[in-house]
Amino acid sequence: MSGLQEQTRNQCISCGINVAGSNAAHFDCPECGQQIYRCAKCRKQSNLYQCPDCGFTGP
Ligand SMILES: [Zn+2]
Ligand SMILES: [Zn+2]
Repeated sequence: MSGLQEQTRNQCISCGINVAGSNAAHFDCPECGQQIYRCAKCRKQSNLYQCPDCGFTGP
């Protein structure tokens, strides 16, 4: 497990793809303010997300 540090920050919270440079939505976790990214595909499908920081789950 190495090389997964700084560069993987902009990952879709639902499917985990790298959203850097794409038209992904990003917003703050309503619970803890953690920045959350979601790719256009998951946004369209209204996939659930879970905050990696506090575990908050939302639509
Ligand atoms: Zn996604
Ligand atoms: Zn959170």
